[in-house]
Amino acid sequence: MTRYNPECIFCKITAGLIPATVLYRNDVVVAFRDITPVAPTHVLIIPVEHIRSLSELTEADSEIAAQILLAARIVADITGVLESGYRVVFNNGADALQSVGHIHAHLIGGRPMGWPPFAGHEVRH
Ligand code: 5GP
Ligand code: ZN
Repeated sequence: MTRYNPECIFCKITAGLIPATVLYRNDVVVAFRDITPVAPTHVLIIPVEHIRSLSELTEADSEIAAQILLAARIVADITGVLESGYRVVFNNGADALQSVGHIHAHLIGGRPMGWPPFAGHEVRH
């Protein structure tokens, strides 16, 4: 059975109830532009199914986990950052400032980035 949370904004995006600029989609994942981009390329890759966070992924979700990473590579190609470089980030839980409780990978690229993300650089939503 498909996991769906009618209160979740990302479930609403997968269902087409909230508009989004979708760059890639298959039966398992959807990739769309972040509404508040932090770089020229900032795309969110989410599973169609509602899973709250990385911490809740199980062995049964192996296909979903793989599809998120494969979609990241496809989105990097579509957005032209495959060669220049990009970052794939899962914010998970409070300390990491996860603000939407539907697992998502941020794909960020199109400009040079710093590393590591030192304390004090983060912006609380
Ligand atoms: P988090 O902080 O949970 O790692 O990332 C959530 C991301 O979702 C943020 O970067 C935020 O800009 C993005 N976001 C929140 N609401 C929407 C929305 O309705 N549409 C889109 N496209 N992005 C959203
Ligand atoms: Zn959801």
